[in-house]
Amino acid sequence: MAEDWRNGGFGLYVHWPFCEAKCPYCDFNSHVSRSIDQGHWRTAYLSELDRVATETPDRVLNSIFFGGGTPSLMDPATTAAVIDAAAKHWRIANDIEITLEANPGSVEATRFAGYRDAGVNRISMGIQALNDTDLRRLGRIHTLAEARAAFDTARSLFDRVSFDLIYARQDQSLADWERELTEALNMAVDHLSLYQLTIEPGTAFGDRFDRGGLRGLPDEDLGAAMYDLTQEICEAAGMPRYEVSNHAREGAQSRHNLIYWRYGDYAGIGPGAHGRMTVGGQRFATEAHRMPQAWLDAVSKGTGESARDRLSGIDQAEEYLLMGLRISEGIDRDRYAALASTAIPEAAVQELVELGMIRTRGSRISVTYQGFNLLNRVIARLAGA
Ligand code: SF4
Repeated sequence: MAEDWRNGGFGLYVHWPFCEAKCPYCDFNSHVSRSIDQGHWRTAYLSELDRVATETPDRVLNSIFFGGGTPSLMDPATTAAVIDAAAKHWRIANDIEITLEANPGSVEATRFAGYRDAGVNRISMGIQALNDTDLRRLGRIHTLAEARAAFDTARSLFDRVSFDLIYARQDQSLADWERELTEALNMAVDHLSLYQLTIEPGTAFGDRFDRGGLRGLPDEDLGAAMYDLTQEICEAAGMPRYEVSNHAREGAQSRHNLIYWRYGDYAGIGPGAHGRMTVGGQRFATEAHRMPQAWLDAVSKGTGESARDRLSGIDQAEEYLLMGLRISEGIDRDRYAALASTAIPEAAVQELVELGMIRTRGSRISVTYQGFNLLNRVIARLAGA
């Protein structure tokens, strides 16, 4: 029987851990450093690629994703070296997607041509807000004018350009968001990621919030109204939601993220990178050392990995459910049953169908508009909780 990961494909995630400044809402593994030895980083990535490729021979690589951090601070020669090495280790899919996350600063934009020449064919840009006041409040170091200029440069060089916006910001009304989203859709090429601002513990915003300092955040009802409005406007503009926070024109979905959501395999290299890899018929969850220097030191001793846990069939089935129900295409019940060695309880399926939370089609289950608003409960019910 074919290994389960083949249902979702195979990708490579490369984590670049540096940013020019730390945004106050950010809980990603990102660090500010005055000096970065690009050559040292290149050598470390190539060494990690050798290691993971040895474990995953004879595969077709469907995507590469440079995430961060701010990968547009990476020397394009490093990007090129990683892509070239990946192409030597694996067979490259004809339609491989190679995405690089970029910040929309003017300095980064000067490197875009270098990334294109390296083989990158998709840019995902963290614009976050379409006015300078809110960009400053979000601690972003770019201005709207710089963002627009960088976006135009990206559009002139790449067929596929996505950008992110954060909504449900301080003092943002429903009408403000409607205006901004409409403007964003006028700019958009083929893909938009729209996230509600969440206040994470351990971030500067989290500390400020705990001290009662982050005023004017929308309450739950306004947040929900903003989410609903987002779906309505994006759908009408031909960019419907295909995942909780992601919208695309037909055929322009992020193929890399679809590997996660379709529960394929992905090798993760770089500080803090996670992976799911099937090796010798067993699937493993992998994690790399989080701190940049600790990761570099570990790689120089043979592996950047800090943890590798074998996933049982039930673990995999639960992860598949958790990831697969985030996307509008949903999951396949037979695949779940093969992983879990038990079926999703029919009573739970019937109950959620009757409540209008899910729909079924053959062996597939997908979440309805109503169900998306209560996704965690839907997942818990199907998982038998
Ligand atoms: S640029 Fe992105 S990764 Fe870096 S600190 Fe800001 S939000 Fe985090």
